[in-house]
Amino acid sequence: MSKTITNIYKRSSKDLYEELKDKRIRCMICERRCVLNPGSRGVCRNYMNINGELVHIGYGVVSAVESRPIEIKPFFHYWPNSTALTFSGYGCNFYCPWCQNHFLSFSDPPIESKRISPEDLVREAVINGDEGLNASFNEPATLYDYMLDLFELGRRHGLYVSLTTNGYYTLSSLKKLIETGADGWSIDIKGCPKMRRAIASIDHEIIFRNARYILDNNGHVEMVYLVVTNTNDFKECVEWIIDQHLKYLGSHTPIHINRYYPANYWREPPTPIERLISIAEYARKNGLEYVYIGNVGDPEYETTRCPRCGKILVRRRWYRVTYFNLDREGETYRCPRCGYKINIKGRYVSYK
Ligand code: SF4
Repeated sequence: MSKTITNIYKRSSKDLYEELKDKRIRCMICERRCVLNPGSRGVCRNYMNINGELVHIGYGVVSAVESRPIEIKPFFHYWPNSTALTFSGYGCNFYCPWCQNHFLSFSDPPIESKRISPEDLVREAVINGDEGLNASFNEPATLYDYMLDLFELGRRHGLYVSLTTNGYYTLSSLKKLIETGADGWSIDIKGCPKMRRAIASIDHEIIFRNARYILDNNGHVEMVYLVVTNTNDFKECVEWIIDQHLKYLGSHTPIHINRYYPANYWREPPTPIERLISIAEYARKNGLEYVYIGNVGDPEYETTRCPRCGKILVRRRWYRVTYFNLDREGETYRCPRCGYKINIKGRYVSYK
C-alpha cells in the first residue's frame, strides 16, 4: 500500500470543543472532556490545543492495517463471516492496566511518521475484497477526526463501518460518528461503580447510555465483558453489569463474556472457566438471549441457538462461521424451525 502524507495535522470542527478563557479549550470528543492549555495534549495524547483550537495531531497516524474476520472483533450478529479491513492508532483514553495491546495504547502517536490517507485505506479494503472497515486494537476515539473522513468515504464505496471501542464518547461526538454510517459497535464494559482497583474515574453507566443511543439510531451493538480476576468479577459487579444490560439494551443484544489473561502490568491469574460459565448462566437466567463465552477456544460456547426453540443456528470455529442455517426475508433473519426473529444486522457472507 502506498502511504501518502495528508494534512499533517487536522483542525477539529468547532462543535467538538468549547472555548474557555485565555485560549484554553475543553475537548468534547469523549467523556474525559479534557481541558487543554495552549500547547498541551489531552489524556489520549492525540488531541492538542494549538493557538486555542483543537487539533488532531494523530490524524492518519495508523499503527496497523490488517484484513480480519469480523467474528474476532468480536461481532457474532453483524455481517457474519465477512472480513473487515482493521486499523488502529496509538494512545487511549482509559489505560486499563491489563491491556493486551498496551504497546499501542500506552504509546504516544509518532507524529513525525508518514500518515495514511482515508483514500488509501478505502482503496486497500476494496482491493482486498473486504466487506467493511473496523477500528480496533487501541481505542478508536484516538482517531476520531480521521474516522469521520474515512467512514464517510468507506460508505460511499459500499463498505460497512464498525468499531471495537470502550464507547466513552460524548453524545454529540457519537451522533456525528453515527451520521457517517458507523452502525456496528462492539463495546467493552470494563466494570461497575463499585470497582476500585483500576480505572476508578470511569462512569461505567455512560457506556450503557451510549449503547442505547446507538440502538435508537438503527445501529447494532454487541457488549463485551472481559472478566478480570479479582478486579471486576465480584458478585455485585456481575449483577450490576447484567442489570444495566437488560435495563438499557434489552434481552436481544448479544453479550460476550470473555476470559482475561495476564498482560501489561496486571498479574492476576487467568479467569477460571467455571467463573465464566457461572456468569453466563446468570445472564441467561435473567433473560439475555445471546450469551457467548470467548477467549477459551471452545466452539460450543460460541454457538448461536434459537432463543425460543433451541435449534442450533450458527456454529463458529476459530472466528470463522462453519455452519449457518437461518431463513432470510429482506433484512430479517428467522429461525427456520419456529420462525423466531434473530438479531442479525447485515448480510451473511456465505463463502470467502
Ligand atoms: S478525545 Fe482525547 S483529548 Fe478529547 S476528551 Fe477524550 S481523552 Fe481528552
